[in-house]
Amino acid sequence: AKGQGKGRQVSYTAEMDQRTAEQSRLAADLRTALDTDQLYLLYQPIVAMPGGELYGVEALVRWTHPERGPVGPGVFIPAAERTGLIVPLGSWILQEACRQAADWLATLQDDAPRTVTVNVSARQLREAGFAEEVEAVLRRTGLPPHVLTVEVTETAVFDGGTALTELRAIAELGVNIALDDFGTGHSSLGLLRTCPADILKVDKSFVDDITEGGQNAVVVAALIGICDGLHLRAVAEGVETAEQAAELYRLGYRYAQGYHYARPLPAAEIEARSRCGVAA
Ligand code: C2E
Ligand code: CA
Ligand code: CA
Ligand code: CA
Repeated sequence: AKGQGKGRQVSYTAEMDQRTAEQSRLAADLRTALDTDQLYLLYQPIVAMPGGELYGVEALVRWTHPERGPVGPGVFIPAAERTGLIVPLGSWILQEACRQAADWLATLQDDAPRTVTVNVSARQLREAGFAEEVEAVLRRTGLPPHVLTVEVTETAVFDGGTALTELRAIAELGVNIALDDFGTGHSSLGLLRTCPADILKVDKSFVDDITEGGQNAVVVAALIGICDGLHLRAVAEGVETAEQAAELYRLGYRYAQGYHYARPLPAAEIEARSRCGVAA
């Protein structure tokens, strides 16, 4: 039994090494990608319920690798976070999303998405001067601060250090703050008192089984009460069926995001839908 344990240990370590090597290779390629137009953003509609009108969008980064084809952010974002490459990558994403948002505002005016959400990772938030970068991007693109939403995970905020200070400075600019994947991390309701959050994204894992009488239905129902009480906008994530949407609406949710309404879409598709006033 001892020998077996040791064998497992060895193969586990080898597997780890392989994964680390794979991540370093990806990170190296990603550095090139940043300079050669392999990256682009898609925008997933955030809709108002029950009608499904487009309210805002969340920017989601995509990478077409020259040899591997599409690589998902679930793979390359963690690699970028580990190597620190997320900092220049995140800067590019922020700038590109704000440029696009300002462009929509100019061309679509009243029909433009009311908010454009950008994911910001813990590592970016810990960089000194991140709030100043946000301010500089807003100035450069001419985007009014209230159109931007910075989305962070609760774990990122809990990171301690300067994360909360940067977040407060960003909120001071008039930018909206959303807490992503709420309920999945080391969350505490106390965070909602110290963190300047405007929006709470209820994670897909809670939404998944609400129509099957799962235990998570209780969490989803409690969270809308908390959001209403604290004047936070609740957004239900990962809504895939009409049944889920109806149940969320019945519970008091008014904003949702998910394949039931729309997948992440190219900017031109967001424009077309904005003009018709529908998301789906
Ligand atoms: P996230 O921020 O929680 O983004 C939501 C993810 O769920 C997206 O996956 C989206 O395509 C997917 N999704 C939306 N609706 C549904 C649905 O109804 N069903 C299912 N099954 N999935 C749905 P994506 O684009 O692959 O991104 C995965 C994660 O990678 C994101 O999770 C986020 O953590 C990270 N990520 C993506 N883009 C960025 C970015 O620009 N910056 C940073 N820092 N992270 C990003
Ligand atoms: Ca997000
Ligand atoms: Ca999320
Ligand atoms: Ca997530």
